[in-house]
Amino acid sequence: MRLRRITAGRSPVHGMGLFALQPIAGGERVIEYKGELTSWRRAAARQRSEVGHTFVFGLSDGRVIDGSRGGNSARFLHHACSPNCEAIETGERVFIHALTAIAPGQELFIDYGLSVDGAVTDELRTQYTCHCRASGCRRTMLGSNAASG
Ligand SMILES: [Zn+2]
Repeated sequence: MRLRRITAGRSPVHGMGLFALQPIAGGERVIEYKGELTSWRRAAARQRSEVGHTFVFGLSDGRVIDGSRGGNSARFLHHACSPNCEAIETGERVFIHALTAIAPGQELFIDYGLSVDGAVTDELRTQYTCHCRASGCRRTMLGSNAASG
């Protein structure tokens, strides 16, 4: 039997977060990011009623995985500008891998690097402001390709 390696819990960042229960080695696959495959526009329309949490994962083809619909605990991953995990896209599936060794009790983070379909409005900018306080913080969860617009 494999031990449960991660769990959702209260995060000092905001709401719920994802935490390591067991030591995780760098490069290890941690969890699949599950949810409904949909368009950015549909997911964004749903998001407006859930202020402060981002339950979408952008795929390279412009669609998103909406973790608020049929998702697993991967939706509790917070954004950080210097994350300890990364998302690897395989076809229409996304897997979260550790970037570095993670000790039990540490919170897991990925760089959302969100790309927005259409203009980046002030409303979006506000919704996706980053508060990770890392020295290299970009102050946004949006990817560089969405920084201008
Ligand atoms: Zn940041």
